[in-house]
Amino acid sequence: MTLDIRQVPVLNDNYVYLVREPESGNVAVVDPAVADPVLDKAAKLGWTITHILNTHHHGDHTGGNLEIKEKTGCTIVGPGPDKDRIPGIDVQVNDSDTFALGATEAKVFFVPGHTRGHIAYWFADSIALFCGDTLFSIGCGRVFEGTMDQMWTSLSRLRTLPPETRVYCAHEYTQSNIQFAVSVDPNNVALRNREEEVKQKRDRGEPTVPSRLGEELAANPFLRVDQPDLQKALGMLGADPVAVFAEIRGRKDTF
Ligand code: ZN
Ligand code: FE
Repeated sequence: MTLDIRQVPVLNDNYVYLVREPESGNVAVVDPAVADPVLDKAAKLGWTITHILNTHHHGDHTGGNLEIKEKTGCTIVGPGPDKDRIPGIDVQVNDSDTFALGATEAKVFFVPGHTRGHIAYWFADSIALFCGDTLFSIGCGRVFEGTMDQMWTSLSRLRTLPPETRVYCAHEYTQSNIQFAVSVDPNNVALRNREEEVKQKRDRGEPTVPSRLGEELAANPFLRVDQPDLQKALGMLGADPVAVFAEIRGRKDTF
């Protein structure tokens, strides 16, 4: 069954998602940075939270875990490789596992790099990807715990999903990501078009997330490090994609 997905903006730029599977009425919260706004939103919708799905251990993704669990009795699902760093974890999931939310299911991808235990949840029936801080719109997460090679491998896996996939990332970073992206890929028409579209959305106070994976493939430099046009713009034509990835990730860190 197709999920009903609601976005809850919290803190400065985080997105928490409330995800309801209509046949069972089960409701999952993806990456609750905080508890109160999520509990309030669920109450307003008349939804009962049954699960928390964590992508990784960072506080701005798990900070609401224990309070939401205490108030709802929900089950917390998170990455097995990081079980010791996920507050209140009940169910550990690993690469290629499936997790059933009522009548639909998510496939789990192990996508280390931002953290060493990061996972993503792919709901094929709803063409929806919850990727935490691995893939952002026109950007990607910082490589804190893994290697550049791991992060590129992780992004490469996400890149193989259908282009119509909606990318539910955990932060509204799109506008600043675009400022960086045009500095490395100035002649990319898809990127320039997205720059304008995103500016208009932000001027109206609208979210730019989710985007479609197809749009990311055309305009997100971190998904294009093996493309000759981007490599050429960087003076790295023919280079190993990992080296190109490391180059632009490094530049972004100090941009
Ligand atoms: Zn993070
Ligand atoms: Fe985060």
